[in-house]
Amino acid sequence: MSVERTFSIIKPDAVAAGQAGEILAMIQSAGFKIIGLRMTRLTEPQAQGFYAVHKERPFFSGLVKFMTEGPIMVMALEREDAVKGLREVMGATNPANAAEGTVRKRFAANIERNCIHGSDAPETAGQELRFFFSTADLL
Ligand code: UDP
Ligand code: MG
Repeated sequence: MSVERTFSIIKPDAVAAGQAGEILAMIQSAGFKIIGLRMTRLTEPQAQGFYAVHKERPFFSGLVKFMTEGPIMVMALEREDAVKGLREVMGATNPANAAEGTVRKRFAANIERNCIHGSDAPETAGQELRFFFSTADLL
């Protein structure tokens, strides 16, 4: 196992609810180093591009609407086995199936408004990090 980077978003629902600080604390408690962090708001084309892999899915338009409704926090994170580790901190996509102590179990309202994004594989982590950060911005 080696040190790896992953990408995460604190989604508009959690930022609006003032939960970003607690979510960041959970991520740091799990051993992640924050190597990039920025607040932003997605435009519709950005949200469509970021979630392009889901464009044929029935939830796509709702997802784009949700992800553009307010500010988000984008993060670059580093840890051993970061991609898999962050997915464990997040919990299942549907909070009804999320394990106790996960971000989604604690804070998510439903399968769409689920507080946090995390890359699903090292390759997508690389793509998603480049979508939001230039190499020069990362520690
Ligand atoms: N999503 C949704 N309805 C679904 C599945 C997913 O609204 O039935 C949303 C949800 O916000 C989710 C995002 O689309 O986080 C991306 O879906 P994915 O399957 O990649 O889940 P994740 O990787 O975020 O757990
Ligand atoms: Mg995903």
